Amino acid sequence: MMWMKLCLKLKASCQMTKKAKGKSIMKKTRLLVAAAVVIISFGIVLYRLLMRDFAHEKETIYFNGTILTMEDSQPVVGAVLVRDGIIIEAGGKDEIMKRKAAGTVLADLGGKTMMPGFVDPHTHVDISAFLFEMLDLSGFRHKTNKDVWAYLEESVKKYPKGEWIVCKGLDPILTADLKTPHITYLDKIAPDNPVVITAQTLHSYWVNTKAFQASGITTATPDPSKSSFYEKDRDGKLTGFIAEQEAFSPMRQALLKATSTKKLVGRVDSTLADYAKKGNTTVVSAGLTSEDNTILRLYGHLSGGKPAFLNQLLALVGMFPERSPRPRHFIYIRDTMEQQLPSGQNNGDDFCKIIGVKIWYDGSPYTGSMYLREPYVNSELTSRELHIRPGDSGYALLTKNEIVEKIKKYNKLRWQISVHAQGDRANAETMAAFEEAAKTMDITPYRHRIEHCLLMDKNLLPVFKHLNMTPSFHVNHIYYYGKALNDSIIGRERAGLVLPVKSAAGQGLNFTIHADQPMFASEPLSLVSTAVTRRTREGMTLGAGEAITVLQALKALTTMAAWQIGFEDKLGSIKAGKYADFVVLDRNPLETPVEKIMDIRVLKTIVNGNSVNFQQ
Ligand SMILES: [Zn+2]
Repeated sequence: MMWMKLCLKLKASCQMTKKAKGKSIMKKTRLLVAAAVVIISFGIVLYRLLMRDFAHEKETIYFNGTILTMEDSQPVVGAVLVRDGIIIEAGGKDEIMKRKAAGTVLADLGGKTMMPGFVDPHTHVDISAFLFEMLDLSGFRHKTNKDVWAYLEESVKKYPKGEWIVCKGLDPILTADLKTPHITYLDKIAPDNPVVITAQTLHSYWVNTKAFQASGITTATPDPSKSSFYEKDRDGKLTGFIAEQEAFSPMRQALLKATSTKKLVGRVDSTLADYAKKGNTTVVSAGLTSEDNTILRLYGHLSGGKPAFLNQLLALVGMFPERSPRPRHFIYIRDTMEQQLPSGQNNGDDFCKIIGVKIWYDGSPYTGSMYLREPYVNSELTSRELHIRPGDSGYALLTKNEIVEKIKKYNKLRWQISVHAQGDRANAETMAAFEEAAKTMDITPYRHRIEHCLLMDKNLLPVFKHLNMTPSFHVNHIYYYGKALNDSIIGRERAGLVLPVKSAAGQGLNFTIHADQPMFASEPLSLVSTAVTRRTREGMTLGAGEAITVLQALKALTTMAAWQIGFEDKLGSIKAGKYADFVVLDRNPLETPVEKIMDIRVLKTIVNGNSVNFQQ
């Protein structure tokens, strides 16, 4: 009996427990569902908040100015209608105004000139950012040797102990009486700070003992090559002079480690804003040398068409800057960093992407590494300041076979190839290498390009045409160093033959002109002026027969530059269907006296219909 009662009680209690359990499970399930709903809703709100981009400008009509389109069929228009970053129509003011809707913004140009934004076809965003805000020892700022070192000595006092002091622009050509520094001098003025000074050409460096210590370089450190080394005196002591980038690399790494990430990414953003300030709506990095993948992520975040989730998270925690309108950014990866190459051309977007591979075949005329047929002039400048030995003609960085193999390799992978070639011998051998590769494969679809072309034999230009190739001319060689080239580096005869820009135009080539920032500031209108006048700073003319017209020079920085990077259908002119990338100038360059073109001011830069704020 007792047993039966116990069983009944237990049964009842079990049923009760089951019911209670059921209720509790339901309750828990409800709670879980509620929590999931809250988390998902929160996630959606956070995602939306995070993915919200800067405000894009409304539909706009630009009018009441001189609007230069760079299109031969319709060179000047009265107004332009832009919607969602795209040019909807460019034409007469009256007909465009008829399309005005209720919310359309009317952008009155106030009689100023609007034209397609400039494309800087060859620059170095990474190095420009690295040097941004550094002490400027250049000849643009200091006219005498005394000025340079007085400025450095004064500046050094402001740095806290241990902080790196980095200087840019040391230049024995523009600062005529410059004496380059010895390690003992730099140790004396900055005993407690690592000091690094880079040359204007970026091929030479001067450092002190603290900088060597911070990067682990000693007298026992082997030189990377004959041309890239740590200079030592007769007693085997380091003099502080470092030749070329390979030897400088450990110091660059140490310096980057010592600089906060936040500071570095901020500099990249400021550098891009600075390009826009000069009128550039697109910049092209001609050879990214960074091993760090974060830099590509950062470029995509700053210039890319849309925000990306992870990048926005990084911006939220302050590791990346917030997005705002910035120039488009297209990149050639240095061939030695080919691990950075994506699997194909289908990467990024119309705002930021990797478009090719950069190869170096020779170096610079200002260090003796430009590869010539005949030796450099033996002058006081070449022997004393530029360290060029009498009889030297420079050298190639690759064997003939190596360059042919590289061209074949990247052409097979369908990458556009860009080759650095300055000297006459470098240009001839590079073009011969392309011709050799073209014997076994079609190289015409990729528009391979040659960079700088200082001493480019005119006879090579038909080969460009035949192979559908394109030169990018470093015309600032004339303006800044033309006199030094003429008087002391390559001599009058060769200086008269530099940069055959008009001949390239005569062949119908889509050529471009560039400043190679940070070697020289990316100032498109200064390039236009030099390509048109062929005048040096001192007023000397080099190769007057190769001068081009203002319109040709403007096209070299707009339509032809867009063609060179494969974006001629989307960028480079004001035409329905293209992106709304514009620059507003205070004067019309086509009607400004040639000697005043350099002084034309950039009033506004518009990328994808949005104005870039320079004041950051
Ligand atoms: Zn360059």
